[in-house]
Amino acid sequence: MEFENTLEFAKKSDELDTLKQFRQKFFIPQHNEQDCIYFTGNSLGLQPKSVSSYIQQELDDWARLGVEGHFDAKNPWLSYHEIFPKQLSDIVGCLPAEVVAMNSLTVNLHLLMVSFYRPTQQRYKIICEAKAFPSDQYALESQVRFHGFDPTTGIIEVCPGKGENILRTEDILSVIEQHGDQVALVMFGGVNYYTGQYFDIKAITAAAHKAGAYAGFDLAHAAGNIELHLHDWDVDFACWCSYKYLNSGPGGVAGLYIHEKHLANKELPRFAGWWGYTKETRFQMEKGFEAIPTAEGWQLSNAPVLSMAAHKASLDIFIEAGMERLCSKAKLLTGYLLFIIDEINKLNDGRLIEVITPRDEKERGCQLSMVVKQKGKEIFNELNRRGVISDWREPDVIRVAPVPLYNSFEDVWKFGEIVKSTISRV
Ligand SMILES: *Cc1c(COP(=O)(O)O)cnc(C)c1O
Repeated sequence: MEFENTLEFAKKSDELDTLKQFRQKFFIPQHNEQDCIYFTGNSLGLQPKSVSSYIQQELDDWARLGVEGHFDAKNPWLSYHEIFPKQLSDIVGCLPAEVVAMNSLTVNLHLLMVSFYRPTQQRYKIICEAKAFPSDQYALESQVRFHGFDPTTGIIEVCPGKGENILRTEDILSVIEQHGDQVALVMFGGVNYYTGQYFDIKAITAAAHKAGAYAGFDLAHAAGNIELHLHDWDVDFACWCSYKYLNSGPGGVAGLYIHEKHLANKELPRFAGWWGYTKETRFQMEKGFEAIPTAEGWQLSNAPVLSMAAHKASLDIFIEAGMERLCSKAKLLTGYLLFIIDEINKLNDGRLIEVITPRDEKERGCQLSMVVKQKGKEIFNELNRRGVISDWREPDVIRVAPVPLYNSFEDVWKFGEIVKSTISRV
């Protein structure tokens, strides 16, 4: 598509957008009584207007029924979580049996490593991306230590080449091959939180398997942002949070995926709890854990229904919009943002802003990460004062993510105008 840096073009594109009515389903934060330019759906997605009625339903049932709500609520709490596998499997591309909504992200990452990081003297290394999200780094480090190994030799980070920001797939694959039979686990982000780079999950998984290792992914920045096919790509396990692109509210219930081929494997160790126990006999409260033969078998606790109600409200919207339509709009919208940033940069001899996110739309989702070479923090703060909500990462990166569910082409155009005038003033 030929983009144009005009309000008319932006408005025209919004008119043609088949998802345009979805913006109305969300509360948009306000600035001077106008909609903010909200480009931080990669950090905390906006609240669907339907959330309060979904939560109210559970509050009413709790008030009306007390404990009987486990069976008699409109959506019985005993089985509340069973609403999610179908919807989540559409979003991450897997079988319903392979996915469950539970806990929070870092907790799930640890639980998955209990099952899939089983180091031996020979095979103990974890390969991950450099600059992984801090919580993931701490989780990996502490797991390696927990098993009596040293993170400095146990964790191998794949780094970008000198002077580069993004990883080349061939470098990732060759590091995996190089460490070969010492690799226990390849654990990558789906989309790196800092650069916005989307990794080749299928190729990385195949390389891990060739080395005899498991492949796991943290999809915090990929779930609801990228079209995924976890089952077909043969990914062993994955986890994600629901409050970023999935709009399910701060600290919302997270997701976990385990490939079908592992579900019935009794050899896999796990940390168990009663909610993972076979449903038919759970309430006989017998000794001896008998796992549900799906991803649900990894559950520990009964479902946090109130936060799940918000999750449900959001996923209903996601399913209505459909990942395919969302992803094709995202390509246009983020492509337009890249075009607008390039236009601004031309006014500054191309030297002020460097977009470190891959320019190839197949290697990114919604997010663009801009290195601002001068006065980055001042520019960021000034944008914020003018109603642009973006995200600052030390030392010099502004992350912006127009999300296809509620951002518009007009948002992107206005963003460009505000950035242009901000730069000329600070
Ligand atoms: C957002 C994010 C987290 C946050 O973890 P929580 O357990 O939800 O606090 C972890 N890892 C990645 C890659 C993230 O993007």
